Amino acid sequence: MSAFAPTSPQACIWRDRAEALIAEHRIDGRAFINGQRVSSLGGATFDCLSPIDGRLLGVVARGERADVDAAVSVARQAFDDGRWARQPPAERKRVLQRLAELMIQHKDELALLETLDMGKPIQYSLSVDVPLAARCINWFGEAIDKIYDEIAPTPHTALALIQREPIGVVGAIVPWNYPMLMAAWKLGPALACGNSVVLKPSEKSPLTALKLAELAIKAGLPEGVFNVVPGYGHEAGEALALHMDVDALGFTGSTRVGRKMLEYAGQSNLKRVFNELGGKSAFVVFDDTDSVERAADTVAGSLFFNQGESCNAPSRLLVHESIADEMVARIVAQSSAYQPADPLDPSTVMGALVDEGQLRSVLGYIDVGTQQGARCVAGGAQALADTGGFYVQPTVFDRVDNSMKIAQEEIFGPVLSVIRFKDEAEAIRLANGTPYGLQASVWSQHIDRAHRVARALKAGTVHVNQYDEDDITVPFGGFKQSGNGRDKSLHALDKYTELKTTWIRINGA
Ligand code: NAD
Repeated sequence: MSAFAPTSPQACIWRDRAEALIAEHRIDGRAFINGQRVSSLGGATFDCLSPIDGRLLGVVARGERADVDAAVSVARQAFDDGRWARQPPAERKRVLQRLAELMIQHKDELALLETLDMGKPIQYSLSVDVPLAARCINWFGEAIDKIYDEIAPTPHTALALIQREPIGVVGAIVPWNYPMLMAAWKLGPALACGNSVVLKPSEKSPLTALKLAELAIKAGLPEGVFNVVPGYGHEAGEALALHMDVDALGFTGSTRVGRKMLEYAGQSNLKRVFNELGGKSAFVVFDDTDSVERAADTVAGSLFFNQGESCNAPSRLLVHESIADEMVARIVAQSSAYQPADPLDPSTVMGALVDEGQLRSVLGYIDVGTQQGARCVAGGAQALADTGGFYVQPTVFDRVDNSMKIAQEEIFGPVLSVIRFKDEAEAIRLANGTPYGLQASVWSQHIDRAHRVARALKAGTVHVNQYDEDDITVPFGGFKQSGNGRDKSLHALDKYTELKTTWIRINGA
C-alpha cells in the first residue's frame, strides 16, 4: 500500500506497477557472475529498503571476498581467451549498440527500479537516467570503430607504432546518486576498449546494475565479460580494490573513500586508480548578469534536482552584494516549487533522500549552519515523515561565510549556501576556497570578465551563463580533491587502455 494519497491516474499506474513488482517478489538481488544470477557463496544477503516509504523491496546478495575472487577469476579468463577483447571493434560496437537499444526497450522497468531503490522522481528516471545511460553505452560503441592509433615521426630506419591496448580486468565501484548512469560511464568506455569488468554498485542502490548485466547478455556480450557483485564497501568494495588481479579501478564516490582507493592500490598491485569524487561547486553571479531571474531559477533548478544529491550540484551561490537580496528572494520563492512529494507521481520534482543515514546527515548540516550563524531563509526541516520515507525541504541559507562547515563540506542534499562578495578578486578567491574543484559557473555579460574568471577557476568544467547543459562528448571530472579521472568523451578511453610502443627496425632503408 502506498504511503501517499492518490493524486493522478498516472501516479496510480506507477504505484500499481511498483506494488506488483514487490508483492510478486520479482526483484532479483542475486549477483551476476559468468552470465548467471548467483547467490553469494556464503549465502549472506542484506535488505534492500525503498527510501520512498522505508519498505522492503527484496534481499540482495551480500558479496564478500570469495565472491569478488570468483568474479575477477571469470573476468580474467574471459579477457585472456580474447572472447571479447579480440572481437573486431565493429562487433563490439554492434553489441554495445544492441545493449543501448535494450535499455530503451526496458525503460519503464529500469526507471521504476531506479526510483524505488534510491528515491528520485520517476519522471527523471525516465527522462534523464535511463536515456543518458543508454546514450553513453551507444556513444562509446559507436566511437570504437572510428579511432585510429599512431605512427611516430621516427628516423627512416624505423617504424614505431603507438597503440592502445585494453588494460585487462577493470574494477568499477560506483555510488548511489545516479546508479545506472555512473555504471554506464564506466562500462561504456571499458567494454568498448575490450576489457572485462567487475562492477560493485552501491549497497544503497544495486538493482539497476544487476538488470543491466542481464540485458548485456541478451545483447550478445559474452559470458564472464561483465560481472556484478553487490555488497558493502568495506567488504566487496575493499576486496575488489585490493585484488591483485584487477588492473584498473574506476571509482566514483566520496573523497574520503577515494583516498582509500589510492591506499588499496599502494597496498596491492599498483593498479591504476581513476577517482571521480565529491564537489562543492560555486555558482558566481556578477552584477552585470543579463538576468538575475534566470540565474536564480537556474541555481535553484540545478541544486534541487535529484534532491541535491549530485556531485556537481551548485551548492555555493556567490553573488555580488548589490543584487544579492533580489536573487535570494527569487530563489526562496522558487523553492516552493521543489517541495518533496511521492517519487512515483510523474508530476513530482523532488523525491526522497537515499536512506535514513543521509537524512540524518543533511539535517545535521542544517543544524550546524544555524549554530554557526547562517540565516535559514527557506526550508530547514524534514518533510513527509509520516510516510516512513526520508524527505527534506529545499533549504536556503543566506549570509553564509565561506569558512563555515556548510560552505566547505559536501552536504549532498537540497541545501544552498549564499555567500556575498564585493568584487571580482574576492569572488575568485571564494570560489576556489574549498578543497574541491569539480564544476563552477560564471554569470556575466562582460566578455573579458567571463573569460578571465573562467580561466581563474580551478574546476574541471566551468559553465558560462548556464549550468546544467552537458553532453557525452565532453569530459566530466575534477581538479584538486574532486579527483583525477575523466568520465565521458573520448578522454575516458585513456583510463581503460595501456599505451604500447612497438619499435621496428627497417634494415636497408
Ligand atoms: P561513497 O564513497 O560512500 O561510496 C561509493 C562506493 O564506494 C559505494 O559503492 C560504496 O559501497 C563503496 N565503498 C565505500 N567504502 C569503501 C571501501 N572502504 N572500499 C571500497 N569501496 C568502498 O559515496 P556515496 O555516498 O555512494 O556517493 C556520494 C559521493 O559520490 C559524493 O561525494 C558525490 O560527490 C560523489 N560522486 C561523484 C561523481 C563524479 O563524477 N565526480 C558522480 C557522482 C557522485
